[in-house]
Amino acid sequence: MVVNSYYECEYCKTKLRLRYQVGYFDIPVNIYCPKCNSHISGSIFIDNDNISISENLIGAIKVSHEDYEYVYELSTEFLVDKCKTKEETKPFDLTMFMRSNPFDEEKRERQNNLLWFNKNILTFINRIENVYNLLNNKKIDLIKRFFLESDDVFLKDLRMEYDYNKIINKVDAMLATKHYVNTLLMRTMPKRVFENIYNVMHVKVRRIVTNHPNEMKRFLSYLDEDYLELYLNRIPKFIVDYIKVIGQLIPIYDNYSNFNVIDFGKKGISTLSIDAMSVIYKKGYELLCDSIDLVIGLYNIESNGQFDIFTDGRYDFTTKLNSYNSKYNKFETFTSFQSDLFDGIKGTLNNVIRNAEGHNSIFIDGIKQEVTFVNKHKGKKTTYTISFLEFGKMCIDLYVAILYIWEYCYQLTKLKAVLVDAIELNYGK
Ligand SMILES: [Zn+2]
Repeated sequence: MVVNSYYECEYCKTKLRLRYQVGYFDIPVNIYCPKCNSHISGSIFIDNDNISISENLIGAIKVSHEDYEYVYELSTEFLVDKCKTKEETKPFDLTMFMRSNPFDEEKRERQNNLLWFNKNILTFINRIENVYNLLNNKKIDLIKRFFLESDDVFLKDLRMEYDYNKIINKVDAMLATKHYVNTLLMRTMPKRVFENIYNVMHVKVRRIVTNHPNEMKRFLSYLDEDYLELYLNRIPKFIVDYIKVIGQLIPIYDNYSNFNVIDFGKKGISTLSIDAMSVIYKKGYELLCDSIDLVIGLYNIESNGQFDIFTDGRYDFTTKLNSYNSKYNKFETFTSFQSDLFDGIKGTLNNVIRNAEGHNSIFIDGIKQEVTFVNKHKGKKTTYTISFLEFGKMCIDLYVAILYIWEYCYQLTKLKAVLVDAIELNYGK
C-alpha cells in the first residue's frame, strides 16, 4: 500500500507531497527541502495491524490541502526515486515495492530477516552488550546459566545443537558466546559474508597454524592484553553502535550485490542520516586501523616466516607499526600486499571522510543526495563527493571489514588460550 501525505517546508513553505510505502515496519525519514535544503527528519510509525499510521516529522508541517510542487518517496525497505517536480511525476507511477523486483524470493527473505532484526533491535543490543560484559568480567557461571535457562528464541534452537553444560572455563564461555552472537548477527551480513568469515577459521588461520606452528605460538605469546580488550570490548561496542543505525541502511542491503547497476542520478534513499552515519564511519575507521595489526602479524608469518619480519627486514613489531606517519598509510601499505588474509578488509577506508568528520567539514546537498567531505591541511584543500547511497554502502563495507577482523581476533584469542595458556577446551569439542 502507498500513502500520500501533504506537507510544507517549515522554513521556505515549499509544498511537498510525501508518497510512502506502508509495510510492517516503521519508516525512518531523512530528506531535505528541495528549495532551501532544510533537513526534514523523524519517523512514520506503523502499528502491528499495518493500518494505524502516525507521522512524526520535524522540519515540515502537515497541511490539509493536496496541492504540491515536489514529490518525495519514502521507504524503509526500498530505493526511492529522488525528489521530482510535480511535472516529472506520472499519474500511474509504480510503487517502490513493485519496482524492487518483489518476486526474487531469496532477496525478499534476506530483507525480511533484516527488517525483523531491526524491529527487535533493542533485544539484540542488550544481549550483545551483556554477554560481552559478562565475558569481560569473567562471569563464566552467569554466562552458562544464561545459555542454559534463557527463553531467548535463538538459544532454544542452539541448545539442540550445543551442550551448554560443557561451559567450564573462559574459553568455553567465549566459544559459546561467539556462536550465539554470530547467530544474531547473521541477519546483518550481506550475502556470502558469513561463509567468507567462516573461512577465516577453517582455511586461513588453520593454514598458518599448520604450516608455521612454532612461529604462530611465538606470535600468540607476544600478544598482550590490548588485543583481548579489542576482542571483548572495543569491537562489540562498535557492533552495537552500528546496529543502532542499521535500520537506515536496509535499502542499500537490498541492493548490495548489484550495487554497481544503480543509477545514482535517479535513485536515492530516504532513510539515511549522513551525520549519524559519519560518526559511525569515523569510529569504524579508527578501529580498523588499530586492529589490522593482528592480520599484519599473520601476513608476516605467512610471507616472511616470522611475525616480526617485514618486507624490509626485522623490527620490533609494535614499534614498526607505530612508525608510519599515519594509521591510514599503515593500513593501505599492508592491505595492498597480495594475500587472501586481507580479503574483505582492503579498500574499505577513505581518509578524507574520516578527517572531514573529525573537523565537522561535511556538506550535504539534500536535493542531489550528495555529500561532500572537505579536508584542509597546510593550505591544501581536498574534497570528496559521493552520493548518499555510496556513502551508506561504504559504511556497510566497513562494518563487514570489522566483522572479518573480529573473527581473526577471536581465533587468535582462542588459540592463545589453548596453545600458550594450555586451557582445555570442553564446549564445542
Ligand atoms: Zn524549504
